[in-house]
Amino acid sequence: MATSAKKTKSAKTAKSTVIQAPKGMHDILPEDAWYWEKVEQAVRDTASFYGFDRIQTPILENADLFIRSVGESTDIVEKEMYVLKTRGGDHLALRPEMTAPVMRAYIERGLSRVSQPLKVYYFGPAFRHENPQAGRYREFYQMGFETIGGESDPIYDAEVIVAGSRFLESLKLKNLAIQVNSIGCKVCRPNYRKKLQDFYRKEMAAMKKNKVVCKDCERRLETNPLRLLDCKSDLCVSLKAQAPSILDNLCFACRQHLKGVLEYLDEVALPYSLNPYLVRGLDYYSRTVFEIFSDQSDLALMGGGRYDYLGEILSGKPIPAVGVAAGIERIIDVVKTNNLLPLRKTTDKVFVIHVGDLAKKKAFALIEQFRKENIRVSAALGKDSLQAQLKAADKEAAPLSVIIGQKEVYEESVIIRDMKTGSQETVPLKKINDTLKEKLRKQ
Ligand code: AMP
Repeated sequence: MATSAKKTKSAKTAKSTVIQAPKGMHDILPEDAWYWEKVEQAVRDTASFYGFDRIQTPILENADLFIRSVGESTDIVEKEMYVLKTRGGDHLALRPEMTAPVMRAYIERGLSRVSQPLKVYYFGPAFRHENPQAGRYREFYQMGFETIGGESDPIYDAEVIVAGSRFLESLKLKNLAIQVNSIGCKVCRPNYRKKLQDFYRKEMAAMKKNKVVCKDCERRLETNPLRLLDCKSDLCVSLKAQAPSILDNLCFACRQHLKGVLEYLDEVALPYSLNPYLVRGLDYYSRTVFEIFSDQSDLALMGGGRYDYLGEILSGKPIPAVGVAAGIERIIDVVKTNNLLPLRKTTDKVFVIHVGDLAKKKAFALIEQFRKENIRVSAALGKDSLQAQLKAADKEAAPLSVIIGQKEVYEESVIIRDMKTGSQETVPLKKINDTLKEKLRKQ
């Protein structure tokens, strides 16, 4: 008896436990929809101005795409990828970023045959199994601009930096700090990598048992030594100031390329600073790398660079390319906390109010009539009390409401109420469209 009572109780508890969204993943609630729409619109507007067309790739890709391109010794592939095996035995991954999928599509769909370079933009979710914290999620949205094909002309690097900055500026983000670096090419990077390893190994040997870098960097020293430069642990930060700088170790072609990028940025008076410690977490980058910060947030809002080796890794043929990606949640966070965007405009809205069942039907039809006439409408159709509907109209901050009761139905008229002054006038139904449009124009 006691056991079965216990069983019933635990079954009940299990049923009533609220199921939560997976850790690091979140709902985008209606109260935030306005910001998401605004940001997506800003992406579309900037893309259209600079000539980037939308591309959409699957959320799931073959895991090999990222293992080969992003690099096996990166945090993303080593620790952060969501991988699954399908019933058919395919080894798929939720995309941790969108550049490799876009390049995969470029190669697979023969996009090198259209006019070059191909300029595309994307907007969609990416997934990384990171430690969730402020501004760092496991599911997050990214937008990005990519210029693929053509030449490795530095003007394309400058163009994505400018387009990225203009996108952020259009959302009223202020005091943007653009940090630029070059991480060299196949010719100069191996030499620099070796110099860096030699420097750290010498320091380690001198310090014997005392640690000079964090545990992760001890490992990175062998697998991905450039990453030691962007480690944020106190131990590593102090030592990197003495490490050799990549900017002193670029080959002639890479130096010229960087000079070209910076000259184009100077030409449009876009301020930037050189940061020789800036490297990117992904293996496929070459030459230009950059990040964009706003003084309203400590986290990078955007990052990008040239990735001339990605096409070669995936297809065997070199394909010059450069791009930028931004985290949408981080941008919305800054926009919201600093009140950068005006709230939704309601001055062009009419609130339709009904009194009585007959009027409710007429109100329903009136809303359709207004829709055809492009008059923006709100209503609280499920509420029958006049007071409740007026309250809802106030909450919406609609400047005008249209009230229809039994009497108005019979007389084929409506009442227009100015919500600010409370003044009302009766208007014949056949004149309502024009009268409303006229009044809304004056708002
Ligand atoms: P990445 O693809 O790592 O170069 O990142 C590009 C941009 O995506 C960053 O500048 C961030 O704004 C954003 N981002 C990257 N990882 C995350 C994450 N885990 N959560 C939220 N935003 C992210």
